Order: sequence, then C-alpha cells, then structure tokens
Amino acid sequence: MKKTVLVSGGAGYIGSHTAVELVAAGYNVVIADNLSNSDRSGVEGVRRITGVEVPFVEVDCCDKAAFAKLFEQYAFDSVIHFAAFKAVGESVADPMKYYRNNLLSMMNVVDLMREYGRHNIVFSSSATVYGEADELPVTERTPRKPATSAYGNTKQMCEDILRDAVAAYDGLRGIALRYFNPIGAHPSALIGELPRGVPQNLVPYITQTAAGVRECLSIFGDDYPTEDGSCLRDYIDIVDLAKAHVAAIDRMVTGDGENYEIFNVGTGRAVSVFELVRTFERVNDLSLNYKVAPRRAGDVVAVWADTERANKVLGWRAERSLDETLRSAWAWERYVRKL
Ligand code: NAD
Ligand code: UDP
Repeated sequence: MKKTVLVSGGAGYIGSHTAVELVAAGYNVVIADNLSNSDRSGVEGVRRITGVEVPFVEVDCCDKAAFAKLFEQYAFDSVIHFAAFKAVGESVADPMKYYRNNLLSMMNVVDLMREYGRHNIVFSSSATVYGEADELPVTERTPRKPATSAYGNTKQMCEDILRDAVAAYDGLRGIALRYFNPIGAHPSALIGELPRGVPQNLVPYITQTAAGVRECLSIFGDDYPTEDGSCLRDYIDIVDLAKAHVAAIDRMVTGDGENYEIFNVGTGRAVSVFELVRTFERVNDLSLNYKVAPRRAGDVVAVWADTERANKVLGWRAERSLDETLRSAWAWERYVRKL
C-alpha cells in the first residue's frame, strides 16, 4: 500500500518541488500550509505536474489544536517539516517573530507525531549552521558556529529539538537535511520560487533584473580572498534537492540507519557570484545589468558541501548541471511575468 507523507510548508518553494518528487516516487502526499509566504498556485502547480489531486489543508502549524485535526484526518507516518519563516534580515529586525513561528511549529510537529503514534520527521536545516567554517568543504562533523541571526539560531535549535526528542522518545526518528543554496525551478516552469517584495537571494534578483523588474543587480563585494574576489557558495538545483527528501523518507520508511541523522545536501562544487552571473548570461543568451557594490553585512566568504555522506548513505547525488538549473530559473521568471 502507498505510504503517506505530510509536507508542512508544501505550498512554498522547496515543499512544492518535494511534493512532486514524492508523488513521482509513489507516495501519497498531504500538503499543509498557512500561506503566510505562498499562495495556492504552488499547490495547483503540484497538481498539474503530477496529475494527482494532492490534498491541501490550510493550517497554521503553530495552532496545535487545528494542526491536530490533520493528524486525525490523515494516516501519514512521516512528515517533512518545511513550514518556517526564512528571511535572515527580517529575523534580525524581528527575532521574536522567528522564534515563535519556527520553534513552536517544530515543537508541535514533534508533540503531535508522538501523541498520534507517528514516526519519521525530516527537518529543513541549512548550511547557515556552519557559519564561516574553519574547514572547507564542510562535512556533517564540521562544528556548527554560533548563529549570527535569529533565523540561523532557529535552525540550530530545531536540529537540537529533533535530536533530543528522538533520543528520548521511542519510535521517533529524525533526519536533518542541511541545504546549501537552492536555486532554479521545475522543468515544467509550473512551480518555482515566489519571493515577496525585493528578493534577498542572488538568483531571484538576477532573474528579476533580467526581466526588467529590478534595474541592476548589485554584486556584494569583489574584494574577498577568493579567485575573483566574490563569495563562493554551493548552488543546489531545486529538483535535486527535492529528490534528497525522497531519499531521506525512503531511508526512514525502510528502517535503515540511526535514529537521528544529518546530511549535507549540496553539489560539492563552489561557484562564485561572478561565475554564476556569467553562466546565467551565457545559457540564456542575454546580458545582465550589474555593478559591484560593498560587501553585505553578515555574509560568509565561502561555504560548500562535502556530499560524500549523502552520496554513499542516502544513495543520492546532485545531477542537474548549473546550466540547466539557470535555464529553468529564467524560464520560471518568464512564466511568472508572462514574458
Ligand atoms: P517558502 O517560504 O517558500 O516555504 C515555506 C512555507 O511554509 C511557505 O509556504 C509558508 O507559507 C509556510 N509556513 C511558514 N510558517 C508556517 C506555519 N506556521 N504554518 C504553516 N505553514 C507555514 O520557503 P522555502 O525556501 O521553501 O523553505 C522551506 C524550508 O527550507 C524552510 O524551513 C527554510 O528555512 C528552509 N531552508 C530554505 C533555504 C532556501 O534558501 N530557500 C535554505 C535552507 C533552508
Ligand atoms: N548576492 C549578491 N547580490 C544580491 C544577492 C546576493 O551579490 O543581490 C551574493 C551574496 O553576497 C552571497 C551570494 O550572492 O555571496 C549568495 O547570496 P544568497 O543571499 O542567495 O545566499 P546566502 O547568502 O544565504 O548563501
């Protein structure tokens, strides 16, 4: 019989792509989201791509009583918990908004999974937990650095909540996936990233500049101690990232592995901001308006993943090329803007 997975935050960017890959892998999916940073188009996109009327429940994971109803209604044994706020700058300006939403929703997930006798939790963590790492590429054993934002702190705290809960409560298992920089969109261009307001992340800023929504991309710093002076990141294709979640669920469902595990989800390749911009221009045959601007406060110089553990243990690896991913990002922007 098909197993069911609850995808919290499944109307959002990573959750919607993951829902598609779960259905493709033979799982039933239930999407829960309060639409605080998304709209129903994400769910509609999932339904159109899969041809499956994936159930959607509009619910706030912080509202435990309302969230509990979903556990009564659906017999899922696994949850992938994406539901969280994610804007780093906003979290510094309004930390309580982030602690309340990200911690409470996580604690409710853990409590309800226990109360309803459900077992497997995958948590969306982030490479931000490594900060400015002393060793590169970072492995899962690379020490975490003190967080420099409330957002980053919620990722560390939620990892710890999951670790401690799994150690204490029989039957509960957890996997924390530490994402590097997710970019791109589904090849159908029916789902993708929908930033609200001015994009904070590099690729949406690039695509909106190419679309004429933003005048000029600012490259934050060309005087870093890297080959071309710009920062290095590990840009992971969104469909590849989505598939890593399927691998994590497969692993838990089959009962393999330890009760609590951590995996880096990246490509293992460091790409500079200039290289990313040049690649975007080349593969989409356009010229981008950009300028060099001062460094952005809080940016780490370089971080990229050692992916050996995910490759070997999860049997997962990133497959889409940067060229393909940046083509998909532009195709999605054109779809959104009707260009
Ligand atoms: P997103 O904002 O597109 O998706 C998150 C979804 O969760 C949104 O649809 C939002 O409406 C929903 N949500 C937020 N709080 C909720 C609540 N209390 N109850 C129900 N729904 C709620 O963001 P995303 O990029 O898809 O990120 C998903 C997860 O991955 C987040 O936990 C984020 O912190 C994490 N993550 C993202 C990145 C990235 O660069 N996108 C990197 C590392 C980790
Ligand atoms: N960046 C940039 N201009 C922008 C947005 C980002 O030069 O408008 C740079 C940023 O300084 C960093 C890289 O692009 O070096 C990735 O930034 P993003 O915010 O996408 O991810 P993160 O900083 O979380 O890794």
